[in-house]
Amino acid sequence: MVIETRKPEETYELGRKMGGEAGPGQIVCLSGDLGVGKTVFTQGFAAGLGIEGPVNSPTFTILQQYEDGRLPLYHFDVYRIGDVSEMDEIGYEDCFFGDGVCLIEWPGLIEEILPEKVTWVTIEKDLEKGFDYRRISVENVMVNHRVYGHMEAPLGIHSRRKAAAFIEDIKSGKSSPLKNITSNYHYHTVSAESEEILDEIEEMLRAKGFLIEAV
Ligand code: ADP
Ligand code: MG
Repeated sequence: MVIETRKPEETYELGRKMGGEAGPGQIVCLSGDLGVGKTVFTQGFAAGLGIEGPVNSPTFTILQQYEDGRLPLYHFDVYRIGDVSEMDEIGYEDCFFGDGVCLIEWPGLIEEILPEKVTWVTIEKDLEKGFDYRRISVENVMVNHRVYGHMEAPLGIHSRRKAAAFIEDIKSGKSSPLKNITSNYHYHTVSAESEEILDEIEEMLRAKGFLIEAV
């Protein structure tokens, strides 16, 4: 599902709606660059859970916990995490596998410990459509699962330059390999020229434990 918003209130409202529908044990991964609206979304999400207190980005604490809503909310912002082991120190497993709802900003940085089933929300700007425009995709995905493809370029990658940037983002942990691949992990080819890039992407996905099968 893709939602386009044109002001912060609309992103807040999407969050509020999803918070209202959230169930125990749900994990929402929230990816997107700095300043794109992850915290705005989170504030709406918290309101949807009936949380009243102020909700801010827990950038300096990694985890912020809210207990006054319909379900506990565990808000992670792992932007400044040095090593995944810091998540153990926080006791993340009690949050991920408990009865509350987890919201994780910068999930790509801790992808190796994400549970298999997550809701992946990606917020992106498109300056050509205005400063306040946001494209928000919401997908239920299986992390560390099978990726099906055939020998061309992944969906969503329209040029060699974009594909190269995609590879760099995955390498640096800024982007999830799932981000530019459709929710059921199918990707398709556009040209023979992109084969070399595709090989590199496949190698990287394999290194991250994804299984790739031709379709
Ligand atoms: P992040 O947590 O992703 O770093 P924030 O939520 O803190 O980003 O900030 C997003 C900024 O973008 C806010 O200043 C907000 O007012 C502004 N903004 C403008 N348009 C939108 C929109 N459509 N959706 C969300 N935020 C928007
Ligand atoms: Mg934030």
